[in-house]
Amino acid sequence: MSSKTRSVLITGAARGIGWASAELFVEKGWKVTLGDVDVAEARKRAVAYPDHMLALPLDVTDQASVDAAFASHLAQWGGLYALINNAGIQRHAPLAELTFENWKAVLDINLNGSFRCLQAAAKIMLPQGSGAIVNLASVAATRGAAGRAPYAASKAAIVSLTKTAAVEWAARGLRVNAVAPGYVETDLVRNVIKEGRLDVGPILERTPQRRLADPVEIAKAIHFLCSDEASYVNGHVFHVDGGFEADYGVPF
Ligand code: NAD
Repeated sequence: MSSKTRSVLITGAARGIGWASAELFVEKGWKVTLGDVDVAEARKRAVAYPDHMLALPLDVTDQASVDAAFASHLAQWGGLYALINNAGIQRHAPLAELTFENWKAVLDINLNGSFRCLQAAAKIMLPQGSGAIVNLASVAATRGAAGRAPYAASKAAIVSLTKTAAVEWAARGLRVNAVAPGYVETDLVRNVIKEGRLDVGPILERTPQRRLADPVEIAKAIHFLCSDEASYVNGHVFHVDGGFEADYGVPF
């Protein structure tokens, strides 16, 4: 495989936004590595795209697993043009009762996992002199998010990490941006609705477009940021949220 082949490694790609991105990137002609702790699900989905997708076990909390996934990606596709730091989890609890274990679990996947993969990607992209990285932030990054302190803190840190990486690496050919979704219809959201910890009514009222996002709508923004169409977009936080961030929340 030529080193000019456009290839992307997507973390947490077995479902949700990661999977929607994987399918969209293939449609746009990219080669895609799906990295997920749930490799069985990733493999099941990847069989539909045998020449375009590679499904790998990847635990972003484990440095050896991260290193192995990037090495396998290189062996398969011969280069790395883009990384999507998408793996993420939530834990719900009032701040005063939140266990340190849960605080750490969220930070270790959402923030430390993104750092590990960001650094692994840079080791390949900096010598190449090119590459695009997209980190998944959230509208929770810039707000108080009752019951979701570690999630919001991890996403605020992702915004900060995105900007620092962008300014450090811009002159060396890399672009690092973030996408900040509002509420997206994926398992992450479906599960908390099902468990009764999230009421969709107030979310729809609070979202100017009055609906949740389809994962593909987030994937399109991610693809844009990885493409040459975004060749001068760097260190940007791209809200894809149906107007959520723009609205200060007081009804007319
Ligand atoms: P999801 O729960 O549908 O999928 C997440 C995937 O990450 C799963 O396949 C899971 O197996 C994988 N994963 C979990 N831990 C992992 C680990 N240690 N290593 C590798 N993979 C791991 O989630 P989603 O809704 O598609 O969210 C994707 C990203 O978008 C997350 O970073 C999330 O915070 C962010 N986001 C989602 C929403 C939303 O409303 N769904 C909103 C804002 C931001």
